[in-house]
Amino acid sequence: MTEYVKPITPSWCPGCGDFSVLASLKKSLLELKIPPEKTALIGGIGCAGGYHNFTDAYGYHSMHGRLLPTAIGVKLANPSLTVIAAGGDGDGFAIGMGHFVHTLKKNPSVVYVAMNNETYGLTTGQASPTSPVGFEGNIEMPFNAVLTALSLPSASFIARGFSGLPKELTALMTEAIRFAQDRKGFAFLEVLTPCVTYNDNYDEWRKRVEDVTKLPGYDPTSRPKSFELCLEVMERGKIPIGKIFSPAPDKLPPSLDSQVVPDPLKAPALLDISVEHNMAKYQKLLASLG
Ligand code: SF4
Repeated sequence: MTEYVKPITPSWCPGCGDFSVLASLKKSLLELKIPPEKTALIGGIGCAGGYHNFTDAYGYHSMHGRLLPTAIGVKLANPSLTVIAAGGDGDGFAIGMGHFVHTLKKNPSVVYVAMNNETYGLTTGQASPTSPVGFEGNIEMPFNAVLTALSLPSASFIARGFSGLPKELTALMTEAIRFAQDRKGFAFLEVLTPCVTYNDNYDEWRKRVEDVTKLPGYDPTSRPKSFELCLEVMERGKIPIGKIFSPAPDKLPPSLDSQVVPDPLKAPALLDISVEHNMAKYQKLLASLG
């Protein structure tokens, strides 16, 4: 664990749900024996978006809503890295919405952890795309990222966890990372992470979350059944959590990186760019320019 512990204390408020996500992430990387130098953590903007600053893995603070295209670029440049993108609901489902949907469509082998607290915490608690009607004057229906992901045929791994259930969250995190590490495609993990300062719904969510894996009819390999089960749970006023959908191996769509960079040893980041190695090609180019 010490490999992943940086002597920098997160600036989050005491009790923030993001602490649980960070702890789960570190435990999962440790369990999977992925060293910090083989891990690239991409952050967004907002409270959650700075999580990579608190580990010793490679980290990149991308622009608002742009963490997913950045993560895709890193993965295609060097597929041998375990690439994890994480940020909040405001970052991912407002300005980042187009990238979220297109990343589901592209299916890169990266993990996306969307920390959903149903508010813009860093800017003092305004309504976000996932806020319920009535929260801070919100009159719009909340966006549901899991149902959106389920509706796209290229979705490969979809799960939802809760900061208040850290053991279960770590199990989901580990499975999502292993899935992406095996180059099977995009692993989407939404985590309900209460903002204790502006939207403390720990107690409410504790009562409302329902683990779909324990329900009759659960079949994560079937898209229609997963959809139906989620809707059924939601109609009862509950929130479905757990591993929600992942097709059988023979039904998995090919990942973007396995098609674009089939041989990780020939990845762009590993090419020999030394002057000596490329001198002949360089001279040929110069000659062609007259
Ligand atoms: Fe967490 Fe909310 Fe504090 Fe931000 S404002 S660190 S989301 S509790």
